Amino acid sequence: MGEKTLFSRIIDGEIPAEKVYEDDDYCAFRDIHPAAPEHVLIVPKKVIPKLTDATAADRDVLGGLLLTANKVASLLGIAETGFRCVINCGKDGGQEVDHLHLHLLGGRLLGWPPG
Ligand code: 5GP
Repeated sequence: MGEKTLFSRIIDGEIPAEKVYEDDDYCAFRDIHPAAPEHVLIVPKKVIPKLTDATAADRDVLGGLLLTANKVASLLGIAETGFRCVINCGKDGGQEVDHLHLHLLGGRLLGWPPG
């Protein structure tokens, strides 16, 4: 087995993080460098390095990721005011951590387009 990803280590409690939600399949914790008043990373426990590595077998993991974003947005109290979901993929997408994750951002009016 290869080395655990940074996010797997956070999920397993080896690296501290402020978790806001966890179930059997996903873990959500606050980004260490928040880009908005609410900035949470939602991470599938199944390690898929990046979105382009997902296959048809990951359909449920990907669908559940968005439904978990809904759930976490409600928990954070931003479901009504609105929020943004971002998945960075690869170099030009600005992906830093090779463990698929969704950024949930909210708590202020977000600009568009992103830089
Ligand atoms: P990416 O650029 O891969 O889409 O996003 C990775 C995110 O993980 C970045 O927003 C970064 O701030 C966050 N991050 C990196 N290391 C840590 C860490 O050790 N703890 C937490 N909570 N977030 C981290």
